[in-house]
Amino acid sequence: MTITPRILDGIAIAGQIKAEVAIEVQALGARGITPGLAVILVGEVPASQIYVRSKVKTCGELGIFSEMLTPPETITTDQMLTLVAELNAREDIDGILIQLPLPRHVDTKRLLEAVTPEKDVDGFHPVNVGRLQSGQPGLAPCTPAGIMEILRRSDLPVAGQNAVVVGRSDIVGKPAAMMLLNASATVTVCHSRTVDLARYTREADLLVAAIGRPGFITPDMVKPGATLIDVGINRITEGSEFEEFFAGDEAREATFAKRGSVVVGDIHPAAFALAGAYTPVPGGVGALTIAMLMQNTVTAAKLRRGIALEKS
Ligand code: NAP
Repeated sequence: MTITPRILDGIAIAGQIKAEVAIEVQALGARGITPGLAVILVGEVPASQIYVRSKVKTCGELGIFSEMLTPPETITTDQMLTLVAELNAREDIDGILIQLPLPRHVDTKRLLEAVTPEKDVDGFHPVNVGRLQSGQPGLAPCTPAGIMEILRRSDLPVAGQNAVVVGRSDIVGKPAAMMLLNASATVTVCHSRTVDLARYTREADLLVAAIGRPGFITPDMVKPGATLIDVGINRITEGSEFEEFFAGDEAREATFAKRGSVVVGDIHPAAFALAGAYTPVPGGVGALTIAMLMQNTVTAAKLRRGIALEKS
């Protein structure tokens, strides 16, 4: 018997979350509070400019105040620290986001730790990492938080599931593993030094791929019926790669012909056919990140003022 895999529509789920955030913003407005997000974008990295613009635009749509700071590429770590200190002290700013990557001469770790944990809407500060680990309310990283929202809102089981996370970055893999553990999954974390990776992935009821390698998880590495969460965003430009992943896919062929590139995740598209449910790329996990940033900004505004959070 063949089962048609369920596609987990990140765009639709992000839309739900944004609509809920807009209602929360309205309720705060009735109390005279407008949540505020400051985004620092250093230099002229085109990809970062696109991300930041869409973050600022989404703030506007949801009624969140936003301010974009665009220091030049030549800014020093000390000057950045001063900027962050000013934002930490501002009453109208609830969230501070430093768009990465920063120029090489700037000390990224020092800066991320300089953002006060109460305004750390990226959830990268060690205090928030600790809060996540100990299950206390705090600000959690947006991408893994988005994964949990996809699972929750799609009524997919997590407790008791055998979850395997491939990738152990501080931004995705580690916090995703911690969130799955907090939700009572049995979690295995794999990485580049894992011996016989497929041995683990084949046992996964729930597989999270956050590797950064196009189509790395192949069909033979997947348990039939598993939930596949693909975090990877890899742009491919070679015709041979396109053929490997998308031969016969007319819609993508048209995009590839027009733009000279398409995006593929860390899971080989052929593996999705075996899944019980999966997140597509694009339109899956990636679609949630900005919605979760908006949610974190409202959460920060509430936590800072001692306002109770909505129960989810
Ligand atoms: P990263 O920091 O480069 O981490 C990649 C992880 O994959 C590392 O832990 C690495 O292991 C592991 N890995 C690399 N090669 C491997 C192999 N051959 N076998 C097993 N594990 C391997 O990347 P990241 O920031 O977590 O991002 C991962 C992917 O998600 C990228 O495609 C990125 O573009 C995407 N992403 C998407 C979003 C979003 O949807 N909004 C957000 C962030 C990232 P080691 O630790 O041993 O090196």
